[in-house]
Amino acid sequence: MTNILFAEMRQETASFNPFPTDYAMFQQFQGRQLLEKYAGTKTEISGFMDVMAEDDEISLIPTMSAASVSGGAIPTADLDRLIDEIVESIRQAASENKIDAVYMCLHGAMAGVTEDDPEGRLLSRVREIVGDVPLVATIDLHAILTDRMLELCDVIVPFHTYPHVDQYETGQRAANCMRKLLSGNVKPEMVTVKIPLLVRGDELITDSGKFGEAIRMCQEIEASETGLSAGVNIGNAFTDVPELRTNVLVVRDGQRDQALGEAREIGQFMWANRELFKAELISVEQSIEVARQTDGLTVFSDAADATASGASGDSNEILKALVESEFDGRCLVPIVDQPAVQAAKTVGAGGTVTVSLGGRLDPGRFTPLSLEVEVVSLHDGHFAYENGLPGFGGNVAILRYQNIDILAVERSLYFVGQRVFASHGCDPADYRIVVVKSPNGFRPYYETIASAICAVDVIGSTSANLKSLPYQKVARPIFPLDDGVNCAFE
Ligand SMILES: [Zn+2]
Repeated sequence: MTNILFAEMRQETASFNPFPTDYAMFQQFQGRQLLEKYAGTKTEISGFMDVMAEDDEISLIPTMSAASVSGGAIPTADLDRLIDEIVESIRQAASENKIDAVYMCLHGAMAGVTEDDPEGRLLSRVREIVGDVPLVATIDLHAILTDRMLELCDVIVPFHTYPHVDQYETGQRAANCMRKLLSGNVKPEMVTVKIPLLVRGDELITDSGKFGEAIRMCQEIEASETGLSAGVNIGNAFTDVPELRTNVLVVRDGQRDQALGEAREIGQFMWANRELFKAELISVEQSIEVARQTDGLTVFSDAADATASGASGDSNEILKALVESEFDGRCLVPIVDQPAVQAAKTVGAGGTVTVSLGGRLDPGRFTPLSLEVEVVSLHDGHFAYENGLPGFGGNVAILRYQNIDILAVERSLYFVGQRVFASHGCDPADYRIVVVKSPNGFRPYYETIASAICAVDVIGSTSANLKSLPYQKVARPIFPLDDGVNCAFE
């Protein structure tokens, strides 16, 4: 029997969101519970499990999973506790079983208040326990690939799609790599090329944008005889750590020079097209005008307050503009505001209450907005996202101000798909404007119902206007923050 131990740690950090992601924000599953929770989901772990299930000689040993919605940096004590618990769970499993290989499911863009590379730290502690066994990790497309992570993993397998729709397939690719490593005949050569580049915008959409060409080069490498893994990790532009940049990753069986040549070629492609990888934003007033001119639904992308990228979710910038505008079509706006939800609970469904909305978690950017609202409905906040994983927004209230419905939640959620709204009684198809807090990830979920999409230019801790953000740690110079950046490929 071959025993493969696996664990998960994921969160995406936005350093400019002042509201920390504490220990309690991490949803945790232990041991067998992990298998049950992930079976049948569209996740890396279930993709990995399904491939391994085909082999009777392989036994999976689940240890611990800890995952949080994206958010601010993780306080030191919370991160220490989290990593210690995952390590302890792995240590326990390793004391009871012979461990032949390890699969780590990571996001790759986590940051602690005092730790710039939590994944690298976790991997080094896992290595101390398991020693020199094959170790494969999956990571998000937005991962920050650190030198330490590269040293500690045999093969790293990144997502290929943006918006991310290939989590399950990424798990399958990792499992296939693992099977090759376990066959004993494979010697992975993992190389990266570092590009001083931060990217945003529609050209990153792999189906339609320029970036998709780079990913298809990676897929050709993977499909070739000795190709094990390849990808372009663009980094989460809001995780302000020294190694934030774009990285090309190529892993081949042997053939290091070939891998390096290919990584350089893809790197050159990314650098040559850098001017394309910027976001084009339009003002909120123009966006409302687009909605006015559009029959059907216009989706407003509030990328600046994208909880999916790690922002606080308590921006009321677009809400304020809608309240002040004369637009009278139905609008749907999400917001994270615990006291507002509590105030709604106090008066109950059907009641009327004056609430302050937004500007509590990130008060340096947003100021509270006071509105007298009707409480349409109250919910316990438990629902399932489109990928099958559970979401939990704490108590949830649907509030109504004239033509505007507000989904107010106590805890941050991904306001990306339709389910987060529909599960609380608001069908996005019934509105003229729906605000999502997501830069592009919402697109697959809204393609069929949206008549127009506006990337709205408002302030926020995850603004696509990168020059508006107070970077401190990222290695400079880097495009587009600095002028005249040289890249080794030029
Ligand atoms: Zn991502």
